Amino acid sequence: MKSGGLMFFRKKSDPGKNDAHSGRDSDLKTPACLGLSKAERGKKIAELYQISENCTLCPRECKVNRPAGEKGRCGAAADVIVCSAGPHYGEESELVGRGGSGTIFFVNCNLECIFCQNWTISRGVERGETVSIDQLASMMLSLQNQGCSNVNLVSPTPYLYQIAAAIDRAAESGLNLPVVYNCGGYEAVEPLRILEGFIDIYMPDAKYASDEIGARYSGVPDYFTRFSASIKEMQRQVGDLVPGPGNLAYRGLLVRHLVMPDDLAESEKMARFLSSEVSANCAVNVMAQYYPAYQADDHPPLDRRISADEFNAAREAFRQAGLRLL
Ligand code: SF4
Repeated sequence: MKSGGLMFFRKKSDPGKNDAHSGRDSDLKTPACLGLSKAERGKKIAELYQISENCTLCPRECKVNRPAGEKGRCGAAADVIVCSAGPHYGEESELVGRGGSGTIFFVNCNLECIFCQNWTISRGVERGETVSIDQLASMMLSLQNQGCSNVNLVSPTPYLYQIAAAIDRAAESGLNLPVVYNCGGYEAVEPLRILEGFIDIYMPDAKYASDEIGARYSGVPDYFTRFSASIKEMQRQVGDLVPGPGNLAYRGLLVRHLVMPDDLAESEKMARFLSSEVSANCAVNVMAQYYPAYQADDHPPLDRRISADEFNAAREAFRQAGLRLL
């Protein structure tokens, strides 16, 4: 996924201009948070804020006081920093539709993948722009006004309470798009549990099927342990991916699996895990676009693209597991 470069941000919003998701059955109502009462939403936002004061928003558990300005391992402090926002046409067709997926790229990330294709954003080299909660809510409404099919939050994990607060405000001002949580798959269960009701579509990466490979290439000791617990929580909340009008997804779990050189992602093991432990109908995008980025050239076999045989074998493993391939 590539950054759009400059941030697009319209000052004035016109809620309801995009009618792409209107006229549906009431059970297709989005965003999901409209199903929570104002009091419930406020309680959840307050709980997420509290967690960030002794930050355990992700499994790194830095325990820094983020609202007081302390930075954790991800590089995020009190402010939300956005690199870009705008329609994106390179996502899965279930998310793109005619208007594109309305991506908001957040600066900083809780993983440190040495092959990261967006490393200038994830490592905070691109400084981005600090935005308030109101501005973030306006950004969501602006994406809707541009005709986007959803609000796609890229690398949201360090900013959960501000994001929940912004979704709350945007929904009250007419946001009617599904909200996509587009993350690296290294999540803590408790914040996700609190977030329940704010997210329509969870879209985690399924990077590695073992802790050891995650430690080697993403700088965390327990990737698969944390991934396997958090994806079960995501599935519990939203279930299998459900198509809405025009085959656009409006709710559910969509997993991304990037095939890696020498099967470092252990595709067959991951496919078996998803099928047996998450859902036999789990929607998976098996991706072929690995290329050596950031520090990958110094870490063979990450210094090469995958072969057609490697990709076909990985995809076949997911097909054999009976999963729904996108
Ligand atoms: S979100 Fe950032 S500060 Fe909080 S625990 Fe994770 S890495 Fe640490």
